[in-house]
Amino acid sequence: MLRPILAIVGRPNVGKSTLFNRLVGRRRSLVRDVPGVTRDRLYGTTTFERWQATVVDTGGFEPDPSSDLIAGVRAQVLQAIDEADLILFVVDGRAGLTGLDREIASVLRKSDRPILVTVNKFDEAQQDVALGEYYGLGFPGVLGISAEHGRGVAELLEVARALAPAPEPEAPGEGTRVAIIGRPNVGKSSLVNAVLGHERVLVHDQPGTTRDAVDTPVTFRDTPYVLIDTAGIRRKGRVSEALEKLAVVMALKSLERAEVAVLVLDASDGVTAQDAHIAGYAEEAGRAMVFAVNKWDLVPRGLVQKADVTGQIHDRLPFADYAPVCFTSAIRQEGLGDLFDQIDRIAAEAKKRVTPGELLAVVRQAVERRPVSARGVPLRVHSIHQVGVGPPTFALRVNLASDLHFSYRRYLINSIRHACGFAGSPIRLLFRRSGPKHGARGKARRA
Ligand code: GDP
Repeated sequence: MLRPILAIVGRPNVGKSTLFNRLVGRRRSLVRDVPGVTRDRLYGTTTFERWQATVVDTGGFEPDPSSDLIAGVRAQVLQAIDEADLILFVVDGRAGLTGLDREIASVLRKSDRPILVTVNKFDEAQQDVALGEYYGLGFPGVLGISAEHGRGVAELLEVARALAPAPEPEAPGEGTRVAIIGRPNVGKSSLVNAVLGHERVLVHDQPGTTRDAVDTPVTFRDTPYVLIDTAGIRRKGRVSEALEKLAVVMALKSLERAEVAVLVLDASDGVTAQDAHIAGYAEEAGRAMVFAVNKWDLVPRGLVQKADVTGQIHDRLPFADYAPVCFTSAIRQEGLGDLFDQIDRIAAEAKKRVTPGELLAVVRQAVERRPVSARGVPLRVHSIHQVGVGPPTFALRVNLASDLHFSYRRYLINSIRHACGFAGSPIRLLFRRSGPKHGARGKARRA
């Protein structure tokens, strides 16, 4: 299912990032432990009851103060309209409406997206009287909240859920669904064109057309694939320098619907911070991933070894060290066979299932090799079952669930990977504390 995208827009300092943090909460992830990757986190998932949406904090794209503020904010809002299914237009309930708020409102009024005026820093004592000014903006939905204290946020999500379009079911499969992602100019569209031979991919320049995600069915070596959201890849020209980061939104949208992500890197640039961001989202989305080091033709032969480049990528992105690395030249149409070999392999691995017996032997052996204990109680694994594919997900019953250190969880993941494969996929472990039968907290059995 494709989640709706909620964009938070508004002038600087109205509390967009506070609201974003409030909606998205904090989740410990592998990615977060890598310096520089999640510093300016701009996308996250919000959950309300069983409904989920992707939230975009456009506050992170705040216009450069030296440039024209109005133009910058306008561009930011236009971009949000283009990307989002629902817009949370945040205004400051204490400061009241400003010229810039009205400017934003006039841009939003021209869009066909549902818009929810979110009056932040709203003092409950003011009651509805004070919201009158904001109703004057002409949008039907107006809610007073306090992002900082959490007041009104549940109502906000309830209304957002009602306004946002229902998630679309995935299109029936016509081959492995592949998202080609990466920052601008690494050669994504050139790669798509290389795959298509000399056929051109349609270019959609009109604003809004990219939401109707255009997927391209292709046949490569007689095998069908669907390249996800190729219209988005081709979208050029409208994205200003300051908004380049929004390229990540495209990646996110495609990731939602893909089975495999091809993260395209530029051989002449190495791994940049934005590459790391995008890789982080692919990891969080649970997608099987392969790196395509494109423009390999620009690297003088013999000067750089492929194995060294692979090592550098995995060093820089340790949270994605399971992803194989391919070398391509879209311009010379080289390396595509290798890339598709990897796509086939990791798509199959992502769907693989391993029996509980095999899994239990693997983790018990791992624990034996490297015993661990908390408050004198040694870890015991009572059972392990694979509960999901794409990404491979395992539920373990153990006696020490919450006490397990992050690095030990990683060790177990690596042990499973070593024994069972799952090349290209992140592996998820869910720990459950065993019931009283296996010994409650503090009186766990000793072996
Ligand atoms: P996108 O923004 O990721 O879709 O990137 P494009 O496909 O538009 O490519 C950006 C630029 O890089 C263009 O000038 C391409 O001609 C060039 N380019 C793309 N792939 C290659 C490649 O494999 N080798 C070389 N030398 N240039 C490439």
